[in-house]
Amino acid sequence: MTRLQTLFLTIFHFIASRWRWRILRGKRLRRYQEKRARRIVRYANTHSPFYRQHWASHNLDNWRSLPTVDKRLMMDNFDTFNTVGIKRDDAMEVTLHAERSRDFTPALGGYTVGLSSGTSGHRGIFLAGAWEQATWAGCILSRTLHNLRPRKLRVAFFLRSNSNLYEKIGGIFIKFRFFDLMLPLEQAIATLNTFKPHIVVGPPSLLGFLADAREHGTLAIHPERLVSVAEVLEPQDSARLTNVFNAPVHQIYQCTEGLLAISCSEGSLHIQEDLVVMQLEPIPNDSAPARRASPIVTDLWRTTQPIIRYRLNDVLRVSNERCDCGSPFRVIDAIEGRSDDILYFHANDGTDRPFFPDTIRRMVLLADPSIEDYYVIQERPGHLRIHLTLKPEASFTRVAAALTSTAQNTLAEYNCQPADLQIEEGLPTLPAGTKRRRVVRKNMGIQPQS
Ligand SMILES: [Zn+2]
Repeated sequence: MTRLQTLFLTIFHFIASRWRWRILRGKRLRRYQEKRARRIVRYANTHSPFYRQHWASHNLDNWRSLPTVDKRLMMDNFDTFNTVGIKRDDAMEVTLHAERSRDFTPALGGYTVGLSSGTSGHRGIFLAGAWEQATWAGCILSRTLHNLRPRKLRVAFFLRSNSNLYEKIGGIFIKFRFFDLMLPLEQAIATLNTFKPHIVVGPPSLLGFLADAREHGTLAIHPERLVSVAEVLEPQDSARLTNVFNAPVHQIYQCTEGLLAISCSEGSLHIQEDLVVMQLEPIPNDSAPARRASPIVTDLWRTTQPIIRYRLNDVLRVSNERCDCGSPFRVIDAIEGRSDDILYFHANDGTDRPFFPDTIRRMVLLADPSIEDYYVIQERPGHLRIHLTLKPEASFTRVAAALTSTAQNTLAEYNCQPADLQIEEGLPTLPAGTKRRRVVRKNMGIQPQS
């Protein structure tokens, strides 16, 4: 595609997704999803040898109950999963070369190749054709720029690795600057001070560093909005960022598997129901009435690498309430983390009971007001190691005692035996560029019972 065609298509999708945001309601939305899903299922069945075999003996019209796929299945069958015959080894070669050289422009046979920023050994590769990139760019701009004002918008974008996917959205309407997350912070701050962005997009851990710099007076920007991507945005971080920058913090929930949810002008994180169908599966053994669920995602648009009934291991809480902005697209109240990071403690009845990252977060932060940050790791069921940073004047011994009693009381409340608990001062340092997760379960090979 020429640059002009790309631009035209981006504008088309910008307008189309604005229209869908206003028009698609109730039955109409449901019909729209059905039509697109059936079309994409038929396409995958014809063009992806993997899906054809995976669905053999299933009725494709009942697409909502077709067998699911996940990252492992996708990566193990990469060569036949995609519909354009790209080999996994070739795609990996291209992405690794891009990572090493930090030159993210190369593509493979006209397709953009990207690597998902997974923390575990399972890295995902995504492929996108030129028209898919233009669709993506048009939709994301339409849904993130809530009110159009005639001006040139400056957006600073912090990413672990750029991809030529992101560079497409630069151009006439937006002055767009990419910052490599590996760039030393002082250098990024200097550039930001001259660039003066209206919007800063980045993972919350990075936005937190920028908030520190703003408080110390080295960073002098006044963004109108911050957008959190790539990591879970915890409420205490969101509150601090809002406070320091005096600007709202919105979210984009996106992964290799697609563009899943974006904050509206009211700040609610809406599932993009015209782009993906998100089926929600309750979490096994979750006794709290918190409506926690794991999503199964069907992307209604992508054909190069069709994502159909794809199981994500995130834990979400989805609201029953309509948002004030008027959109009927469902709202995600919280992304609590990954289901890999559910911790297990021994219950008095002999079973292992799941504790969600959000429960652990509250337990730690509510134990003592002088706790500034934390990192929790579980190495085996019943074990818990908590790393803390405290306000300068706080006594570690006192806080550790308070946290010990809060933790053991919380476990007792849920009929669990006391944890094998260690509390340490100071956070472990993570390699630059890794995604932050504050609650981590070391792989213990246990599966939630279903
Ligand atoms: Zn809304």
